[in-house]
Amino acid sequence: MNKQKEGHISYQVKAIFLLFSELSAYSARLPTPGETLIGKKFTTSFGGKGANQSVAAAKTGGNVYIICRVGDDQWAEKYKEHLKHVGVDVTNAYVTKNTTTGIAQITVADNGENQIVIVPGANEHLSKSDVDYAKELIKKADVLIGQLETPYETTLEAFKLNDGIKLLNAAPARAHIETILPYCTILCVNEPEASQIVNFDVNVSNIKSALEILLQSGCKMAIITLGAKGAAYSSKNTGECIHVSSNKVAAVDTTGAGDAFVGALASLLVNFKNQPFHQLIGAACEYATLTVTLEGTQTSYPEKYIPFTKQY
Ligand code: ATP
Repeated sequence: MNKQKEGHISYQVKAIFLLFSELSAYSARLPTPGETLIGKKFTTSFGGKGANQSVAAAKTGGNVYIICRVGDDQWAEKYKEHLKHVGVDVTNAYVTKNTTTGIAQITVADNGENQIVIVPGANEHLSKSDVDYAKELIKKADVLIGQLETPYETTLEAFKLNDGIKLLNAAPARAHIETILPYCTILCVNEPEASQIVNFDVNVSNIKSALEILLQSGCKMAIITLGAKGAAYSSKNTGECIHVSSNKVAAVDTTGAGDAFVGALASLLVNFKNQPFHQLIGAACEYATLTVTLEGTQTSYPEKYIPFTKQY
């Protein structure tokens, strides 16, 4: 285990977990089980929910630190260099020996739909002792983002430590997350993830009931992203269900749109504290929508995004 010393900690910090190298195949449609398709193109790129979100947060003006584990393979240094290049602090990217860096195998169809298989590798070794090692950083983060691709107990430990806004993207969907939800300031899920938590198929018509159930689980605010239909949210304070629409665009590749939404929301929450929440959600939707018009995940995240050029 190779642990480096923590870097300088400033006021605006987001600490985020998890990264993957992405292997993407593009084909006319998604294969059915057992079917082999001839693809049109193959690319390698950088992904993983935590890393995607950290890159989106950095590109939208956040001061971002990532807490993660990489393997000792060819991807580790490449990935760290890439993160540094986009402005993400990698001081707390720890190395696990004899392990691969996380990998995501992605298929993207012509209509923008995707299928993803992930092999977590080093991400699975991110432990409570890593959280303990980075505890000063985690404690002071203005926004702490977590996902469910990393070991659950590790994320839970970090959420218990943090004094700021805890933003949980409960993805990929998994059962029994009730112990972390009371520590969440904001829970953000897409429709399938929300369905898994509330035990019915969530869609625009029943979104109010779904948000009510999510709020009863202990978080202060719940957001459900709705793809092309934008996002809906509700908070314990008002109990109101508010729907924010997305701009209509021709989607090319929706991979990582949810992560763009989460990362952008995190940096907007810190940098535009005085904006009403629906404006922040509107801007996060706008940023995520821009990303679906381009192929790729982090490569589709715009660098020069100016929020609030319109009211939502
Ligand atoms: P993914 O798993 O593909 O990263 P997700 O399922 O987690 O995404 P979505 O709800 O599909 O998340 O999308 C997140 C946000 O991205 C939406 O709230 C919306 O702002 C934007 N978005 C996604 N798809 C589209 C689309 N087809 N047109 C416009 N905006 C979109």
